[in-house]
Amino acid sequence: MCLSPYPPVNTQPKRITFAQWGERYAELQAGGLRESSYGGPLGRHRADGDLRLPKLQMDNSAAALRLWNFLLSEEDRLQASLAAGKKLVGTMKDLGTVPVMAYALDNLVAFYPDGAWWLPCLLENQGGLLEAADALGIDDSFCPVRAMLGAFVRRNRFPIPGLLTCSVGATCDDFSAIAQRLESLGFPVLWWEIPHRRHPEAHEPAVTLPGGFRAPAAQVAFVKEELGRLRGALEAYAGQPERGRLARRQECGRDARAPKGGHLASTRPLSDQRLAAGIRRANEVRRRLAELRELTFRSDPCPLPALELLIAEMLAIHFCSNQNESLGVLDELIAEVHRRVEARIGVLAPGAARVFWVNPVADLRVMNLLEDVGGRVCGTDYMFCHALDEIPTDLAPLEALARMALADPMVGSAVDRAERICAEASRFGAEAVVISRIPGASHCALEASLIGEVVRTRMRLPWLEIETPPLTDAMEPTLRTRLEALVEAVRQSRASER
Ligand code: SF4
Repeated sequence: MCLSPYPPVNTQPKRITFAQWGERYAELQAGGLRESSYGGPLGRHRADGDLRLPKLQMDNSAAALRLWNFLLSEEDRLQASLAAGKKLVGTMKDLGTVPVMAYALDNLVAFYPDGAWWLPCLLENQGGLLEAADALGIDDSFCPVRAMLGAFVRRNRFPIPGLLTCSVGATCDDFSAIAQRLESLGFPVLWWEIPHRRHPEAHEPAVTLPGGFRAPAAQVAFVKEELGRLRGALEAYAGQPERGRLARRQECGRDARAPKGGHLASTRPLSDQRLAAGIRRANEVRRRLAELRELTFRSDPCPLPALELLIAEMLAIHFCSNQNESLGVLDELIAEVHRRVEARIGVLAPGAARVFWVNPVADLRVMNLLEDVGGRVCGTDYMFCHALDEIPTDLAPLEALARMALADPMVGSAVDRAERICAEASRFGAEAVVISRIPGASHCALEASLIGEVVRTRMRLPWLEIETPPLTDAMEPTLRTRLEALVEAVRQSRASER
């Protein structure tokens, strides 16, 4: 759908409150705003239970309005897809691989139930999701992804998908325990494995992965075989009149895993041709994100707030359940950012301290907080860099996807991840690094000190470790002071270089 909802070109970009968005919406409408089917005033999402929204500062553009509406209407979109006869695939944990395969088949819609990670924040702990997880033995010693379990058992968020996949192997204990608990409750899971990415031995055949890590060719071959198993399951599911044969077999207890390398008879083969087309479409999203990130991170004044850029990056992992619409949302953001850069206007004062941000924040409000104290984001690693790198198109599709899956920053060592962070931080001219820890998260208890040490020794940059629970209100003064101190350190460093 081609929409031209741009506000008048002389609109001053700024971050505005949720309450101010009411007036801004009326202004945009008066200026001839045209919206997508999921458009409308943001206030309705608050009425639907997204209680955190009034605590956030948001970009004031029509492009940001479309982004927020796209994000916050995903559950409705999934219901509508079901009603239209499409089949849902719940892809868990791999963050960026299986959806590329699923969207290669036109009757499948893939989404990450893991996205419930943000529900404790958005719902301000209402909705009973955490209580439901507590009752199942998944208490607050687990990271916020436990809200996903609550969403499955309460069935009050996303529709339950007919096929559920989950990557295991190099997976955090939290996710692994929660997904196993989910299966024990009668939600069959198709497990597939990504091994811990190791450094190749000397003389061992090895390949360079998208993003630059290296891995033994044998590991790539193993993942490729696993993806072959997934291919069979997806095409069988897509070809079934109602629900996937695999899901039914699992429910009957006859087959806890998909057939090894097997392809069930299907009327919708997931051919190499289809997969290649799916990869090209995923790359369209990735290319747009690369353009948006480059333009935003490199421009001063900062043309787009960190919060909106975080949400835009998340579109890479499963396209917010509509691949074409993701492209439209990103195109509009890119156009808005180009307009601002050309006019030399931005949402923050020029010269904000340039910060590379590591890990997503459980409370979205923290992205505002950095900007409130004079900082800005100029580089990110939100744990899914592999979903931002373009997938190779000069390889057989499963080989390309296997290499991409193994490039996941979370399946290798924290030191490898730190090296990629340093390379990116240097490329974007970062002056400091923030490592945001997640309460209860088991993915690497020591990651902040490991990454921080590499950043300090390689780049001689100040770095800060903070912990962000889903609601940071009570600790906001402390967080603010610590971020202020980091920004001050950047200013002092600039002054001493003059
Ligand atoms: S935040 Fe960490 S512990 Fe939680 S699901 Fe993600 S990787 Fe696992």
